[in-house]
Amino acid sequence: MHEHCPSCDVRYEVEPGFFYGAMYISYAFTVGIMLVGGILVFNFLNDPPAEGYVVPITTVSLLLVPANFRTARVLFIHWFSGLKYDPSAAAKHENS
Ligand SMILES: [Zn+2]
Repeated sequence: MHEHCPSCDVRYEVEPGFFYGAMYISYAFTVGIMLVGGILVFNFLNDPPAEGYVVPITTVSLLLVPANFRTARVLFIHWFSGLKYDPSAAAKHENS
C-alpha cells in the first residue's frame, strides 16, 4: 500500500497505528465469507464431513485476503480518518 496518494499526495496513515481498526472490518468480512461458504458447502456438497467444510472455506478465505485487506482499509479511512474527497486536490498537488 502506498504511504501517500500518488495523485494528490495525501498521507493515508493519519496517525501511527491508524489502520489497526481496519482489522475489525476485515474480521467481519472474513466471518461473512465463512458463513456464506458454510451455507454453500452445506447446500451444494450435501453436508460433508468436517474436512469438506474446512478445506474449501479456508482456501477461499485465504484467496480473498488481498481484496479483504484493501477493502477494509478503504472503508476505514473513509469512515474514520476525517479526510474528505477534494476533486481539486490532484491539480493543487501538480501545481505545487
Ligand atoms: Zn489522492
